[in-house]
Amino acid sequence: MASSINELNPRLLWKHFAKILTIPHCSGNEKPLGDYVLSVAASLGLPAKRDKVGNVLVSKPATPGREAAVGAILQGHLDMVCEKDSNKVHDFCKDPIQPEIKGDWVYAQGTTLGADNGIGLASALAVMEDKTLVHGPLEFLFTVDEETGLTGANKIQKGFLSGRMLLNLDSEEEGTFTIGCAGGADSTLVLPLERKKTASKNLYKLHVHGFRGGHSGLDINQGRGNAIKLLARILWQAHAAAKFEVISVEGGSKHNAIPREAVALLACPPVQVRAMTRAVKKAFDKIQAEFKAIEPDAACSLEPSAGKDFALTQDGQRTLIDFLMAIPHGVISMHPEIAGLTETSTNLAIVKTGKKEFTVLCSTRSSVASALEATRDVIKSVCALAGAKAEFDNGYPGWMPNLDSPLLKKLKELYVKTFGKEAEVVAVHAGLECGIIGEKFPGMDMISFGPTMKNPHSPEEHVHIGSVEKFWKFLTAAIDGLSS
Ligand SMILES: [Zn+2]
Repeated sequence: MASSINELNPRLLWKHFAKILTIPHCSGNEKPLGDYVLSVAASLGLPAKRDKVGNVLVSKPATPGREAAVGAILQGHLDMVCEKDSNKVHDFCKDPIQPEIKGDWVYAQGTTLGADNGIGLASALAVMEDKTLVHGPLEFLFTVDEETGLTGANKIQKGFLSGRMLLNLDSEEEGTFTIGCAGGADSTLVLPLERKKTASKNLYKLHVHGFRGGHSGLDINQGRGNAIKLLARILWQAHAAAKFEVISVEGGSKHNAIPREAVALLACPPVQVRAMTRAVKKAFDKIQAEFKAIEPDAACSLEPSAGKDFALTQDGQRTLIDFLMAIPHGVISMHPEIAGLTETSTNLAIVKTGKKEFTVLCSTRSSVASALEATRDVIKSVCALAGAKAEFDNGYPGWMPNLDSPLLKKLKELYVKTFGKEAEVVAVHAGLECGIIGEKFPGMDMISFGPTMKNPHSPEEHVHIGSVEKFWKFLTAAIDGLSS
């Protein structure tokens, strides 16, 4: 068994990966790795350029006889997510990542490995260097800062690329082709509040917590509870049964996470406390029964509290609760042709109560631009009914799956020819660089594939050695087959 990754196959790919591990390349600090790519290109006599943000492009001419083939672009991102175990001493700005082979997998030691997207980059460098391969005109695109903001892809200038098809090497399951992703956009909703002195000094904290949360795109179809929406539901039902005043509602933490907890501060006169407590319990019991299988740790508490004694007016309180009830959350539609793929969804992500206004952040996604727009229009309508202002950011574009793509058809055939079985074709309900590149270069035929890796973005990240070999075999078969 190999004791060092330099002994693994394909040698050339692992040689470049081993080198990449020694060069710091956290998001925002991609220059040294970009320099390495440029030095490899220079040593091979290949033309290369770097744009203002740091994206690097290298070109390799076709092998003789393949000059007329359509140009293909191999693409990966230069940056990695830098995470380490809390007890690990490691400076990502200078210390090399230390790889470790454990059985069929390569890990790092207490840090992220950066196989995402280091293996993709290493494969591109190996294709650049390998003189035995057969291919049409190739370009190699190395983007910066994919992980924190898709910045490199966003800033590519028209004309930087000439190829008409793009192989994105940033997928995490060998044997799977990704052919689409969601676009998305956030909206900020602001509801003006009017306050008055509370009728009662008896304050209560209503806390809904213990929900699983998760990624607002990838996990939105899991049926998990949104703590803010469920708190609103409890307030709505309790409001019909008891007289209390709402002082504030808070919940959620990140725009791309399903809220795990939410809190309302209430004022309730002593004579109403029993009715309120009973109504809250009744409403939460129903929620608990409904979500029993998926949210076993869901909990709700109502406890005396201290705090401000300026509550919303009765009308304002009614509007706030109705507003929260009406803002959409969850899956809006599933893809009609790709089983299990969420097409459009929206996440009611964060709520905050200020003195004079109540702010809501929603994060909406869709692989179909018009469906994204329609969902945001629904949010606008809810705002119009409630008298809230809505602000919408420009968001990022999706990548609409094209089941008739010639590139997909050809690669499916090549996969069967190479391995004797079909590749799986999927799309993801999250943002990818291909969405942005596809919008900038209309008509670009794109696909994403890679080796198998687990737990990227965490110190548990590991990549499967055998799948790297299969990935290489397929990549080299693909550049040959696409140009013949
Ligand atoms: Zn990646």
